[in-house]
Amino acid sequence: MKKSLFIILLICSTIVQAEKPLVVTTASIFSDMAKQLGDTLIQVESIVPVGGDPHTYDPKPSDLILLNEASLILKNGLGFEKWMNKLIENSGTSAELILITEGVKAIRSDIYENSPDPHAWMDAENGFMYAENIYNSLLKLLPNHKAYLEERYLNYQTQIRNTDSYIKEQITSIPEGQRILITSHDAFKYYGQKYGLRLESILGTSTDAEAQTRDIERIVEIIRSSNIPAVFIETTVNPKMLKQIAADNNIRVGGSLFSDSIGDEDSKAPTYLDMLRFNTNTIVEALTKEKEEQLPTNQTTQETPLAKIFVIIGAVMLLVLGFFISKRIA
Ligand SMILES: [Zn+2]
Repeated sequence: MKKSLFIILLICSTIVQAEKPLVVTTASIFSDMAKQLGDTLIQVESIVPVGGDPHTYDPKPSDLILLNEASLILKNGLGFEKWMNKLIENSGTSAELILITEGVKAIRSDIYENSPDPHAWMDAENGFMYAENIYNSLLKLLPNHKAYLEERYLNYQTQIRNTDSYIKEQITSIPEGQRILITSHDAFKYYGQKYGLRLESILGTSTDAEAQTRDIERIVEIIRSSNIPAVFIETTVNPKMLKQIAADNNIRVGGSLFSDSIGDEDSKAPTYLDMLRFNTNTIVEALTKEKEEQLPTNQTTQETPLAKIFVIIGAVMLLVLGFFISKRIA
């Protein structure tokens, strides 16, 4: 039954298939890169939707159809989309699969050998490599549109270069002792390595693990021993743990960063390069503040009288209790 339904869906989708070649990407960041480069020549779809977490994504039957219709498939690799190989195998697609991190110098895990960090797009300079790999694959797919594709590629390179310079310049305005970026998961190592920020996170390079007590203690120790005024949550990761740590240690949540997904059309990060700029602005704004500035003063002034009232009530109750006990003994 399931198989026949799949075949019917496949036939229907093939009939309505548009003339433009379909480029399927694993995540929204790469969909945007493909759109910037191929523009009106291609249709682009992302398997993981905007706001979704590609580390823990659970593929749907409709993904098989999408891959089957694809002319080109773009994936990050470096362990980012562990569910992808099985999905491709089950779809029976004949589309070319391109590893868009080809040529990128991957950051290796300190703890696990052969475990690369997949978040290479966070360094805008790596964005050049992504763009080059996507451009070459589009050129192969649409050889008659070389002039158009080349023009868009050159234009995109300029935009990447401008973004890279912008980030470098902005980060220098953070006082050196406050250039520590604390996030939920390790998505910013490439960013930190390139732009000069020390990176610390509760989870590792993936989000499919539980936070360990020793990692939480390590983060708390860094917050207490440094001058950093803020920590950062991420749009694709549950913020509960980091918000609690911030509240317990009286520091601010500096904002929500885009790590493994761009934002939707109405957000301030609807493209890959907007995402890098938005993250940079958020980080710089929060980390250039002084730690003392953000102590929740109104909270302490409200709490103090309330605490005093409780102490007075407690003392009165003890006195009354003492009075009755002494009466009984007498
Ligand atoms: Zn990630």
